[in-house]
Amino acid sequence: LNYRNTGFITSAPTIRHLPNDTGVEIAFAGRSNAGKSSALNRITDQKSLARTSKTPGRTQLINMFEVVPGCNLIDLPGYGYAQVPLEMKLKWQQSLGEYLQKRECLEGLVVLMDIRHPLKDLDQQMIMWAVESRLPVLVLLTKADKLKSGARKQQLLKVRETVTTFGGDIDVEAFSSLKGIGVDQVRRKLDSWFAP
Ligand code: GDP
Repeated sequence: LNYRNTGFITSAPTIRHLPNDTGVEIAFAGRSNAGKSSALNRITDQKSLARTSKTPGRTQLINMFEVVPGCNLIDLPGYGYAQVPLEMKLKWQQSLGEYLQKRECLEGLVVLMDIRHPLKDLDQQMIMWAVESRLPVLVLLTKADKLKSGARKQQLLKVRETVTTFGGDIDVEAFSSLKGIGVDQVRRKLDSWFAP
């Protein structure tokens, strides 16, 4: 697919407000600051997409983008904000879990995490939910340019080894929006999920 024509469709405050559960969706999730907006920008070659997600008031919304009709990317709100009250956190976690478990048209989950701080509790939670729902996962170790090539490979192997113990269909790739590392691999993976 050509990801350069991706366009904004809508923002939804909760999963219930999303459009009909049709077509194919691929969701992007990650702790706030993991580099999710930068990655979406890079993958789609568009500056304006992330601006949409980062617009004040939209950061807690689910943003939907269309690559071509019937093929949508879902930008889930970043998790792990320190400032958010516990009650809101729990509510949001519950609805993330619900989305992953109930959204029929969801065909894949991309989990982004800083290559220097991978697999925090909520990252693992997201992956476990996906595994339980038999949803394939692509883990992107973001900001890979921050590590030298040796350390990057080492970290990649370590994370791959750890996620193997989770079971399920989980791929791990190093990624850098800044340097373009891993972009082709991501697009190929998305292609395979959109058109199996
Ligand atoms: P989000 O909160 O997950 O959407 O994260 P952002 O995309 O806004 O990125 C958070 C911070 O990390 C910003 O300061 C970005 O400039 C930085 N960042 C994102 N991707 C990269 C990358 O590939 N390399 C480096 N060095 N910094 C990055």
